[in-house]
Amino acid sequence: MSSSPPIDIAIVGAGAAGILAAIYAARGGARVTILDATAKAGRKILISGGGRCNVLPGEFRADAFYSSGSANVLRRLFKTWPLAEVRSFFENELAVELVLEEESGKLFPKANRAKVIHQALMIALQEEGVELIKEWPVAEMISHPDGNFSLANNDGQWLEAKRVILAAGGMSVPKTGSNGSGYRLAKSLGHELIQPYPALVPLTTKPSIWTELSGLAQFVSWTATFNQKRLASGEGNFLFTHFGYSGPAALNCSHWFARQGCKIQVAWNAWDAEAWQELLSRAGNQTLMAVLSPHLPKRFVKTLLQYCELASDQNTSQLRKADRQRLLNALSNFELPIIGTRGFDYAEVTGGGIDLKQVDPSTLQSRRQPGLYFCGEILDVIGDIGGHNFLWAWVSGKLAGSQAARDLRPE
Ligand SMILES: Cc1cc2nc3c(=O)[nH]c(=O)nc-3n(C[C@H](O)[C@H](O)[C@H](O)COP(=O)(O)OP(=O)(O)OC[C@H]3O[C@@H](n4cnc5c(N)ncnc54)[C@H](O)[C@@H]3O)c2cc1C
Repeated sequence: MSSSPPIDIAIVGAGAAGILAAIYAARGGARVTILDATAKAGRKILISGGGRCNVLPGEFRADAFYSSGSANVLRRLFKTWPLAEVRSFFENELAVELVLEEESGKLFPKANRAKVIHQALMIALQEEGVELIKEWPVAEMISHPDGNFSLANNDGQWLEAKRVILAAGGMSVPKTGSNGSGYRLAKSLGHELIQPYPALVPLTTKPSIWTELSGLAQFVSWTATFNQKRLASGEGNFLFTHFGYSGPAALNCSHWFARQGCKIQVAWNAWDAEAWQELLSRAGNQTLMAVLSPHLPKRFVKTLLQYCELASDQNTSQLRKADRQRLLNALSNFELPIIGTRGFDYAEVTGGGIDLKQVDPSTLQSRRQPGLYFCGEILDVIGDIGGHNFLWAWVSGKLAGSQAARDLRPE
């Protein structure tokens, strides 16, 4: 083990959460070292938002987050650093101007490049005197009776620290460094996991008439149900792909499917059965294609009618009752055929992880292991597409970092 004196705070993971934790721990007066497994810290920031980095949502919505922990606890956590202040941190302290993309409600750097956010954070780390050690995957962590910790990498190098912040992320896109090893470290110090699963992940289906629609996008509303119980709903753009479904709507509802294999029902165009019925009843002698195609892409109408075993040139006024009902169901309550997800390699986040019940929500310190803190995706909190996951990483990172530093200061 190391003979050098312990550093104040060791942070495992230089992702969004670990970087914010480091900045705020250093501002709190602590000597901070971040250990990252990869040669390039913050890789997820660089690939986020299609290389543009959707840093934050334009508006805070408590219902955009999901955790098995208490919704009140989550709300309280987000109140520790309100969205306007997080935005101000980026704009005024890091000098990165953010711009709202009106149609999506997402905030991006004005330069439209994730690199700008990454660079600004790296500069902030330097300015705060944080030591960043790359290619140092923490493989083992031991807590000592004096309250200190020893951390080891695969080469048998050891490092001592008075406090540790585990910010090692989940298992999504493991090539960025978050490969689930953080869970193993947490477990070795007495924590249990809520089974991790891929979330915000494209859904898969068998090759069918639907996969032939690959590339076609459509606005939808969706509902997730399990044993006839409605679990969640939402709306947004939905994309057919050669393997199944993607786009914000599919990614947001994927979490429910991945977690408990529920049904996902879709209303095309986000219209309910009454709206479609109204359209059909006003259609007179027009063909189904003529009635539906002003509202849905022709290619899609063709496939939907094929699925309903109806002809495109079928006269609407001569539709039999059972055919009309089948069509209305397919338009407004279509059960998506799903066989699975594309897994962790393609998931934007990991659901599950360290249960919020195992941390003190006012500090994010473990209730099981004094001196150990958690932040970011390793905790059982995920958000919808739209900057919510970074918001969680920034807010929880700041809280864990400042509290760990505060814990070290004499009263
Ligand atoms: C393709 C993609 C696009 C995304 N786009 C957006 C977006 O635009 N907006 C948004 O809000 N969210 C987005 N997300 C989600 C967002 O990137 C994550 O929620 C966020 O980065 C999580 O931050 P984190 O610091 O908790 O974990 P991570 O970013 O996963 O960082 C964890 C870090 O820990 C390190 N690490 C892991 N284990 C060890 C170990 N044993 N020892 C040392 N280091 C270790 C890893 O190398 C990594 O650097 C996207 C995700 C993906 C995959």
